[in-house]
Amino acid sequence: MLRLLSIAPRTCSYRATAAPAFNAARFRFQSTYTIPQTQKAVVFETNGGPLEYRDIPVPKAKPNEILVNIKYSGVCHTDLHAWKGDWDLATKLPLVGGHEGAGVVVGLGENVVGWKLGDYAGVKWLNGSCMSCELCEEGHESNCGDADLSGYTHDGTFQQYCTADAIQAAKIPQGTDLAEVAPILCAGITVYKALKEASLKQGQWVAISGAGGGLGTLAVQYAKAMGFRVLAIDGGSDKGQLVKSLGAEEYIDFTTVPDVPKTAIEISGGGPHAVINVSVSPQAMQQSTEFVRKTGTVVLVGLPAGASINASVFETVAKCVTIKGSYVGNRADTREAIDFFVRGLVKSPIKIAGLSELPKIFQEMEAGNILGRYVVDTSY
Ligand code: NAD
Ligand code: ZN
Repeated sequence: MLRLLSIAPRTCSYRATAAPAFNAARFRFQSTYTIPQTQKAVVFETNGGPLEYRDIPVPKAKPNEILVNIKYSGVCHTDLHAWKGDWDLATKLPLVGGHEGAGVVVGLGENVVGWKLGDYAGVKWLNGSCMSCELCEEGHESNCGDADLSGYTHDGTFQQYCTADAIQAAKIPQGTDLAEVAPILCAGITVYKALKEASLKQGQWVAISGAGGGLGTLAVQYAKAMGFRVLAIDGGSDKGQLVKSLGAEEYIDFTTVPDVPKTAIEISGGGPHAVINVSVSPQAMQQSTEFVRKTGTVVLVGLPAGASINASVFETVAKCVTIKGSYVGNRADTREAIDFFVRGLVKSPIKIAGLSELPKIFQEMEAGNILGRYVVDTSY
């Protein structure tokens, strides 16, 4: 059975591309509100098919789930992959995408503990996992064979009301800016975990390849906050300016620099100690295996469809290079990544648009034109 809660009407609008500042008071609730039968969502029936902004039923929370009134959702490149269906992993269809949702708990399934109505909650890529297999037991929940994925196998956050497993949903402190925290729920957690996987020491160089995008702009800041020197790589002077303003010491523009590996080695005096690959370019990933420093670590995070890289056995052995994958993060990574954000060590470089504008955002993303992250407001 669901316990219901009310959400107050909006009293002000956000800063955004063209709006005023955040006011946490707008998400205060009243006790008489009833959850509507229908809501706005963006739905697609087939991969690559029309992205329809329309009314659909509000989902019901299962006994283990909370119902979250999503206020904002980040738009991740993974959402574009899910819509296109370009990975070797089928999505549910029809599908509501989205997996960087921030909102307010408005319903509790009967077995839920640890949440109350009115709490701020984050809906992540990993919506739920079995919690009893060896991988879950050891904190590798995202690798669980029964993982349920928001905006992929479970209707996600491009809707006003979304269900999430109470164990995996992220706790967000009351009063947090829900628009700005949204990208932390995938991009932030993912890059923070990837940086931990890189086994760096303070003062060492890390290259962020794809630094001007959604994951990259957060990776630059987490890396700086963790005490690493950042060499950012992306295309165009706008992205260069942005990543430098976020803490990158050096920037390589791959659209103008003829030999990226050589330049990366020169700038970092022998190659960066680690490379975090958050671009969607197989070529950039391949190059990172060539310019990483001896004994360094290449972390693969971006997921270009059908891509593979070739590592020379001789070079990998002789240089003692580690090449590894990193896939989102677990509950501890989530708590820590949110904590960096709440303490003001990491800011979200966001632009706000309406949920109905998702098709346009996908077009811009495909063209590689987005600086930082788009966040959609589910109210229009
Ligand atoms: P994005 O589109 O916001 O950013 C990608 C950036 O890569 C862009 O700024 C683009 O200009 C840059 N780029 C393109 N070619 C480049 C090159 N040759 N060298 C350097 N930079 C280049 O995408 P995003 O939302 O940050 O996601 C990036 C990738 O990460 C996607 O494939 C997404 O599916 C994947 N992802 C993986 C995980 C995980 O857990 N491993 C989690 C989230 C997203
Ligand atoms: Zn994502």
